[in-house]
Order: sequence, then structure tokens, then C-alpha cells
Amino acid sequence: MTTNHYDVIIIGGRCAGSSLTLWLADQKLKILLIDRATFPSLPNVPSSPFIYPCTLRLMDELGFKESDYTLPGSKIERFIIEFVNYFHAEMPTSRMLLDRNYCYGLDRNVFDYALWQRATSVAGVTAYEGFSVTEITKDAAGNVQGIVGKTVDGKTEQYTADLVVGADGRFSFAARQLGAKIVEERNDHTTATYHAEWENVEDYSPQSPNAVSLYNTNQNFAVLVIPIATRKYIISTYMKSEAAHFGAQGVEKAYEEGLKRAPQLMKRLQNAKRVTDVVGVRPIENGYREAYGANWALVGDAVHYKDPFDGQGIYDALLETKILAQCIVEWKQRGLSWTDAGAKYQQQMMDATHPMFVQTVKRVQQAIYTKVPGFALKTIVRWVLHDPDYQTEYLQYLSRAIPPADYRIEPPISPKIIMNGMMGDLRHWFKRQSTSN
Ligand SMILES: Cc1cc2nc3c(=O)[nH]c(=O)nc-3n(C[C@H](O)[C@H](O)[C@H](O)COP(=O)(O)OP(=O)(O)OC[C@H]3O[C@@H](n4cnc5c(N)ncnc54)[C@H](O)[C@@H]3O)c2cc1C
Repeated sequence: MTTNHYDVIIIGGRCAGSSLTLWLADQKLKILLIDRATFPSLPNVPSSPFIYPCTLRLMDELGFKESDYTLPGSKIERFIIEFVNYFHAEMPTSRMLLDRNYCYGLDRNVFDYALWQRATSVAGVTAYEGFSVTEITKDAAGNVQGIVGKTVDGKTEQYTADLVVGADGRFSFAARQLGAKIVEERNDHTTATYHAEWENVEDYSPQSPNAVSLYNTNQNFAVLVIPIATRKYIISTYMKSEAAHFGAQGVEKAYEEGLKRAPQLMKRLQNAKRVTDVVGVRPIENGYREAYGANWALVGDAVHYKDPFDGQGIYDALLETKILAQCIVEWKQRGLSWTDAGAKYQQQMMDATHPMFVQTVKRVQQAIYTKVPGFALKTIVRWVLHDPDYQTEYLQYLSRAIPPADYRIEPPISPKIIMNGMMGDLRHWFKRQSTSN
């Protein structure tokens, strides 16, 4: 065996690739971790991310402190949903009723660099950045043998391994090379998004600093505003994919026009400055690919890609790599065949991610593809979104604290909510009358 042979080669060094390396630390495996990007990496991967307590817990398990991967001013303690021209509802994250009652907005440059740095310092790991994989090699029987790729200075290099893992994102080159089939797709309602980073953005209100705010126009269009550092936000517009415009000038103009559809947001931007180009992400598809085969596996977005509306991609990537690492250890060190270990990975990965996937697809249809009648917005939808029990359930759903399958996507129209909503409106009406007299 040459010195160019590894136990595992991992293509892609962000959430999936670096976390897989970290889950495998201490297993005395020889690992080659490769990314065509260099770190810290600008521009970031297209993402406008926030993460929930469940993701923070996985990062704890990997040995990180929150301050290792977040910036001051990015802690989120409130979600705000504003139906433009109708009402807004504020949901304090304390309603999650969890031991850690907050989320974070992420600067992916900082987050990915923290992961990459930690992964590349693990004993037994060789890491190459600026290295682009151009081929996955196979033997005559079709078993994967290794990779061929190009270094930054254009040199071609070849490495072999017992297992090659594609952690190279949703457009996975590895998946294409390996012929990994799509095993499930749900693309009846896909969205597209444009996003950019802004500085000096006003808070939603003085009482709501560092909130994630979602401006839903109820016209198949929404704007999401996520704090990633002090007064710095990622602002994303979401729309049906068929309504998106790409090409020269298309993205920039469409983005600026889109923001104007949320007048309250425009007020917050009066003294703000856009500090990055607008990035457009065209139809974001929803599906799964085959997770493993002869000496290969896929993980992260490469195996399971979906709409970012529920913000689950990073959590899923960290969870999938945890499962895959356990299966690799069982194969490498406990005598399980790779076929059985791969099958186990695929099954456990599906069990862990599929229920949420189904819900996210439904929620995208509901939030972006459905227009709610004005009367319902003024009454039942508003009452539901203000209901503390509903808020707890909604936030627990997003943070995976309740099984996703138990969450009702349709607003729960209960007598209690209707009664509380009507009583609240009456109280409000009487108060207005007494102050105006
Ligand atoms: C608009 C948008 C908003 C999002 N918002 C959220 C959110 O709020 N919360 C959340 O949790 N998730 C969010 N996501 C999803 C999240 O960004 C992804 O789930 C996550 O980045 C997946 O990580 P990954 O490591 O699998 O892939 P990636 O982050 O895509 O990393 C893949 C890596 O592989 C490398 N690579 C690719 N090809 C090669 C090659 N041939 N050779 C070498 N290296 C290669 C790339 O350089 C890259 O670094 C969002 C995504 C989008 C598009």
C-alpha cells in the first residue's frame, strides 16, 4: 500500500465533510479531507442560515463553544412573523421551553472556517484546500478506488482509499461520478431565493433586538431577515421558482424590487448598506440520493437536499455525519461488512431526516404557494400565531424538540384559540374606545 492510500477520503470540507472528520477523530483512521475552496472562504457557500438549539447541541458534542463559531450580536431570542399590511406576531424563543432557549444567525465564513480548522488539526488527517476533485476512480468491477484532482497550481494528483465520501453539496460532483440515483424527489413546489448581507440595519423594534423577522406578503413572496453580527443581517427574498429572474442584472434588480414589497423593512434599511453582491439560488429542489455503494457514501446536502425555508440543512448535515461515522467505525473496527454498514447508514439517515423533510415540503407550499383570504388573516391566522401554546409547538417543531411528524402544518383552529382571539380583540376595542373618549 502506498503512502497515498487512506482509510477514508472526504470530498468537501464544510458542515458535512469537516464534521464527519471530527466525529471520526480518535478512531486512528487515516483520513484525507479535501475542498476546492480555501478557508476562510469568501464568497461563502450560498446560504442564509440560522441554527436551532438542536444544532448547538451537536456542535457541543463536537467540542465547540458557541463563541468559536458565532459572532457577537448573532444570538436570536425572538422570531417575528409579519403579514405585510395585516399584522405581526412576536414569538420569544423562551417559548421553546428548552434548556437552551435561543438560536443563532451564522456568518458562514466564520462557521465553516471554525469547522475546517478544527477538522484539519485532528491527528491522522491530511487536508488539502484549493484541491478540486476531477474524477472518482473505480476498478473493473465498479468498486470505487480513489480520486484524481487538481491542486491550486494545476498539478494533477491521485489518491486511493477504502472509502470515498462525497460531502460536496447539493450539486454533488461525487454523486454524478458515482452514478448515485435519486431515490425520492418532491419538486411540485420549489422556491428560489436571492440574498445579500447588509450592515447597519435597524432592529425590528427597540424591544426586539436581534430577531429573525419574516415578512410574508401573502402574494407568493416573503423576505427573511437574519442577524449574523451586531447590526449586520442577511436579507433573503423567497419566491416561487418560476417567478425568479436570473441572468445579467436580473438578480440585482429583482432583489431590490422585492425588498420594496416589505415597506416596514425598507424603513429599517434607511441607513443600511448592502455589503455583498446579491446571490441568486435558482430552484431549490427537494430530495434524496442513494446514500452508499461499492466503497462510497454520500452525506450532507449531497445525499439529502431540500428547501432552506425551515433552516434544517446544517442540523441534518451534522446528524447524518454522526450516523455515518458510527457506521464507518462498525465497518472498520468491528467487522461489519461495508455493504451492511452502508445499508445501516442509509436506513438511520432516512429515519432521522425524512419526517422533517416531508413537513418542510408541505410548509413551503403553505407559506409561498398559498394565498390566505384577507378575512382569515385578520382573524384565525392572527389568533393562532399569537397563541402561546401554538408558538411553543411551532418553535419546538423547528428545533426538532418534538417529532416532526407530530406537528400539524394546518393552523389548529380550536375553540380555545377562537375564544381567546375574540376576547383579546374585544378587550383591545374597548381600550381604544375608552382612550378616544
Ligand atoms: C439560500 C439558502 C439558505 C439556507 N439557509 C439555511 C439555514 O437557515 N439553516 C440551515 O441549517 N441550513 C441552511 N441552508 C442549507 C445549508 O447551507 C446546507 O444544508 C449546508 O451548507 C450543507 O453542507 P454540506 O457540507 O453538505 O455542503 P456545502 O456547504 O455545500 O459544502 C460542500 C463543499 O464541497 C466542496 N466541493 C464541491 N465540489 C468539490 C470538488 N469537486 N472537489 C473538492 N471540493 C468540492 C465545495 O467547495 C464546498 O465547500 C441554506 C441553503 C441555501 C441555499
